[in-house]
Amino acid sequence: MLPIGCSTVSGSSTNRSYVNAEGVGATDERFRRGGGSEGDNIFRAMDWNTPTDRRLGSGKPGAGYWQQRCDYAIDATLDEETDSVSASMVVSYHNNSPHELEYVWIQLEQNLFRIDSIGSRTRTPGTIMKMLEYDFDGGYGISRLESGGEALESEVYDTLMRVELDAPIGSGETFEFEMDFSFKVPPALRRMGMEDVEDGTIYELAQWFPHVCKYDDVRGWNTLPYLGSGEFYTDFGDYEVSITVPETYLVSASGALMNGSDVLSSEQLDLLEEALSSEEPVVIVGEDGIGAERGVISDDGMVTWSYEIENARTFAWAASDAFMWDACAATITDRDGSERTVLCQSFYPREAEVWGPEGEGGGSTRYVKHSIEFYSDWLEPYPYPVMSNINGPEGGMEYPGIIFCGARTNPEGLFGVTDHEVGHTWFPMIVNSDERRYMWQDEGFNTFINIYSKADWYGEDPDISRHMSQTVEVCSAHEPQPIVTAPDRTWPRWVGRLMYRKTGYGLYLLREFILGEARFDRAFAQYIGWWKFKHPQPEDFFRSMEDAGGVDLAWFWRGWFLEPAALDLGIAGVKQSGSESAIIVVDSVGDMVMPVPLTIRYLDGSEETTVLPVEVFHTTSRWNAGWATKGRVIKSVVIDEDELLPDVDRSNNRWRR
Ligand SMILES: [Zn+2]
Repeated sequence: MLPIGCSTVSGSSTNRSYVNAEGVGATDERFRRGGGSEGDNIFRAMDWNTPTDRRLGSGKPGAGYWQQRCDYAIDATLDEETDSVSASMVVSYHNNSPHELEYVWIQLEQNLFRIDSIGSRTRTPGTIMKMLEYDFDGGYGISRLESGGEALESEVYDTLMRVELDAPIGSGETFEFEMDFSFKVPPALRRMGMEDVEDGTIYELAQWFPHVCKYDDVRGWNTLPYLGSGEFYTDFGDYEVSITVPETYLVSASGALMNGSDVLSSEQLDLLEEALSSEEPVVIVGEDGIGAERGVISDDGMVTWSYEIENARTFAWAASDAFMWDACAATITDRDGSERTVLCQSFYPREAEVWGPEGEGGGSTRYVKHSIEFYSDWLEPYPYPVMSNINGPEGGMEYPGIIFCGARTNPEGLFGVTDHEVGHTWFPMIVNSDERRYMWQDEGFNTFINIYSKADWYGEDPDISRHMSQTVEVCSAHEPQPIVTAPDRTWPRWVGRLMYRKTGYGLYLLREFILGEARFDRAFAQYIGWWKFKHPQPEDFFRSMEDAGGVDLAWFWRGWFLEPAALDLGIAGVKQSGSESAIIVVDSVGDMVMPVPLTIRYLDGSEETTVLPVEVFHTTSRWNAGWATKGRVIKSVVIDEDELLPDVDRSNNRWRR
């Protein structure tokens, strides 16, 4: 995409300009890299775990790879008088591991909203203050926990619950248990909540049911508590969820609506059918239909909406008597070439000025359709039947088949958040990484793909200016943090900078500058292909990219992701005695290394560009680059003239005769 030639990095015709002159190469002991040992050489081999038959050295899941599975059937009721949800749940936990499990850990994420939770008393940004302000104290009430008719013993520790078993769950066995729970819906505190708007109330429900913690081959039970920043890490499973709400409410949820004829008017059913074959948004509930009864029979003023989604890592939903609703179809081409329709839809209150199809910028549903189609074409076909965008109290959050987006009046803001949250379908809803530990592995990958989706929608070149300036900021800080820092331990102001922008920008540089598009895309597709609907660790990503890309990127993983190394390239000088050759002395002043893009201008007005391969810094931090000047005299040399790289000090990037 960018003008700097990737081709020279992998060795092309420009190399003819390099010469074997006296003093070329790494000649000065003072600049020797690694201090005489491999100990601190950024290029040294990665200190990775020994590969297993579950996770191969290539980064591919091996023949012994396994993962658990967990299916949920939930009946939930929303009580608008008390703003609370009560539910009854049957969980089928499939132990596909070769191990016997002696106890089960459950994640109780609503307990974050207890006023005495670890998360609200520590560092969930703003949470405790908002809870005090709203006089809110939430968390679960659990009235029943049993298996096979027998009560199960359990103990709650903050957002975790350990469940004792009468007998271990054997390898290959399914453990079924039932649970009744309820909670008061919090105000907009974190990822979910409720909001009063002009025509009623919007409820956004996510991380709302107790779910079995992830048991994996790397750590056993993953029991990091929910403190607020780290999102979630869960098994895939099938969901059947019934949601009972007042009859004037519209509901949207992960997956497909299974009983449309029970909850919608015949006119709305016809419009929904029309939307499924329409490229343009069809209004199903407009302004005049807000909160209106739909002629659905109900004895007690309540109506039950039923949803199903298969192979999803969680389930979320929203309900409101203030929603408008429009929808259209996205066309997805599957791997076998067959085409499939995905329903793209939006639910929003009248305050959401730019959401409807007539809104400035085209409205939410058009954005959803674009993102679904763009990422499906590039990465992997969208797997679910529906994608809904919900406007409500949450600023921006993603779940399978449903996203929450808070932007109301700014079309660019609405596009940006919608596109980002839809993009999370691929990372981490499909490629299911551990968000609670490695936020960058979904946020950063998503930020990377968003760069291209945005450019495609607006018909512009990719814009990475913000990604770069924030990377420079975090790399030149007094006490920098690396990308691999767990989100709960990352300085709040840096979460966006490190996990989103620096990671996304790193992948962008890998594609556009270090590997080139074709080589990167092939390796990235291999990673997605190997790990879709599975659970990669960071190392599986690094290994996959190296194996499928045929490249040793130890320096890049180490400097960019594992350590907070700062890049500072510089020119120490240019030596030219005759007119046939010169030596350009290039320094890697910072701890990070990169290929060096050079622009060389001559007194006769001609100019040339080249990129020195990163390998010039294998043994030294100062490289004497020989350059054939072919009868000309160098006037100036500039490093990274197009300002693609996060160079923390550009003042040393220019040399002039
Ligand atoms: Zn995100």
